[in-house]
Amino acid sequence: MAAPDSVSIVSQVSFRLKVQNVSQLKEVTSPKFVIQDIPWYVRLTKTVEEAEEFLAIYLCCENKDKSPEWTQPAAASFKLLPFNGNSTAKEYHLEPNVFDRIMTSSGCSSICWADLFDAANHYVKNDAIDLEVSITVADPNDEYKSDSIFDAIDNCCDSGRVGTFRLTVNNIENLMAIRSSQFMLRDVPWYLTVFKHSSHLGLRLDARDSSDEIICNVSASVKISSLNEQFQRVQKIEAKQVQRKDGLVMERLITWDDLMRPQNGHIDNGSVTLEIEINAERRLGVATPCARKRQISNESAQIKMPRMECPICNDAIEIHNISFIPCGHTFCTPCITNSVRDRKACPIVACSAKVQPRQVKLLRLPIVSNSE
Ligand SMILES: [Zn+2]
Ligand SMILES: [Zn+2]
Repeated sequence: MAAPDSVSIVSQVSFRLKVQNVSQLKEVTSPKFVIQDIPWYVRLTKTVEEAEEFLAIYLCCENKDKSPEWTQPAAASFKLLPFNGNSTAKEYHLEPNVFDRIMTSSGCSSICWADLFDAANHYVKNDAIDLEVSITVADPNDEYKSDSIFDAIDNCCDSGRVGTFRLTVNNIENLMAIRSSQFMLRDVPWYLTVFKHSSHLGLRLDARDSSDEIICNVSASVKISSLNEQFQRVQKIEAKQVQRKDGLVMERLITWDDLMRPQNGHIDNGSVTLEIEINAERRLGVATPCARKRQISNESAQIKMPRMECPICNDAIEIHNISFIPCGHTFCTPCITNSVRDRKACPIVACSAKVQPRQVKLLRLPIVSNSE
């Protein structure tokens, strides 16, 4: 049997992670994958929020390029797989975000600890869980990728309370996530991210501040421009506490179909313009339980690194012998080669995407050892 061809630049990879000793978990990181030539990994931590425990999942980027201009959009989804075939997997989606030299991790999809260990859900077996992780990274060399133009329309002074900004996204058709330049409100640096997620256009406002304390109470209104007055839309967001790791997220500004429909007039020459008014009420030095919720114990975790597993044979995958198919699912090479020859479809039942034997590719790269 001929060995599959190998591929070194991929944009999407899905893999199965087995996390052991879950009841003792404090923090673990997955092996690192090189996707679009950048190492990525998944970090799992146990967090406490208002006396309730959660498993938080982050997508992390280990960028080598430390220049201020370097940005990279990426998204991820996590599926908690039940070991009992009749139960349903639980899916968590991380909306597309823009990574850079400071913003190197994006999370979190919080899974309630009690739900995780609820025997009826069949998620934990022998103190281990199976997670299917899927990471999608935009092509940094795509000549038609989206870019943006950002202007302050009304932002009188750096410590201003209210600011109005105009963000135009060009090549909106190819949007994954794009970020505005930084601006100041209440002496805090902020930036906006526009993203496409689950057939909607979304927007998030994040503070770029080094403290974990509460930064501001923020409310916002977003106007999606239209050439046709009657289709102009405004969405208002009620005041919300914003912290460094918890931005203001508007997941569903408008459906993608409504945005793209020519008669709605939102698209002008391939671009969409948003007008965003932000009102920031500073709450200096107010510490609440929320301000401490992300803290995790400093004790080092005596936990085995999660291992990558082949969904066909359930054995650990040897890192030099991983193959993937166009849907992004990964397996050990002999398993997927045989499986696709017998049945020309992805063996992950929920996927079942059609595959031809020649489309099985060896994933030559990726894994960087993470012994730190
Ligand atoms: Zn296998
Ligand atoms: Zn698949």
